[in-house]
Amino acid sequence: MTTLPDHRRWRPPPLIKASALLHVGAVAATILRPEAWPWTAGAVVADHAILTIAGLWPQCSLLGPNWKRLPPKAAARGELAITLDDGPEPAVTPTVLDLLDRHRVKATFFCIGERAMRHPDLCREIVDRGHAVENHSLRHRHDFALLGLRGFVRELEAAQETLAAITGIRPLFFRAPAGLRNPLLDPALCRLDLRLVSWTRRGFDTRDGDPGSVSAKLLHGLNGGDILLLHDGNAARTTGGDAVILDVLPRLLDAIAAAKLRPVTLRSVIA
Ligand SMILES: [Zn+2]
Repeated sequence: MTTLPDHRRWRPPPLIKASALLHVGAVAATILRPEAWPWTAGAVVADHAILTIAGLWPQCSLLGPNWKRLPPKAAARGELAITLDDGPEPAVTPTVLDLLDRHRVKATFFCIGERAMRHPDLCREIVDRGHAVENHSLRHRHDFALLGLRGFVRELEAAQETLAAITGIRPLFFRAPAGLRNPLLDPALCRLDLRLVSWTRRGFDTRDGDPGSVSAKLLHGLNGGDILLLHDGNAARTTGGDAVILDVLPRLLDAIAAAKLRPVTLRSVIA
């Protein structure tokens, strides 16, 4: 069994500090000036609306650190990261691995713990072929963003234990299901020493089965430092019935090679 790493200390980001101060102020105002309650209540409601919008915005950094690009040094080296969510998926992932091998490219797979449990050999194969497996939660719950601190810790830690037991390597990165969260996710990530990752661009390849339009969205402004999001699990289907990633990935890998950019795993950047 793997040992827990040292915990990062949680520091409330400025928006959370301001929000806490506002709540203290609202209590004081209600005691001192009860007749002003509509203004006080309005300020608290507005604050919660801002926190909610921040949680619904996957690339937002107001609720805590969030990688939407690789660090500047990696970007300057022409590195980018291909990330694949929602696997492992036996009908798709093996072909994705073959395509990556053919281009000698390493990628980061954000696996769902329960799917990894169903297909442990495939999950191990991802790592054996030189790629990274990171944490995409245990169950990929649709109500993930509504969990509290204990719920987040339970869900993330269970996925950590599951993926580490299968691959022998403890994930260092977490991506929230659909990128949605609330202010309590950041302290949970600190407790588990996980870094939150969103993306620079995504192709909406769980909904769009047109390889041309998915590729265009991913390739628009392709540059060093990009974190690209694709799906080997839950992939939309082309008119021919194939997972759209199988058509998009070769185009993407050709474009990356033509641009002389170098795909790397997320964990290699912090190694
Ligand atoms: Zn997902």
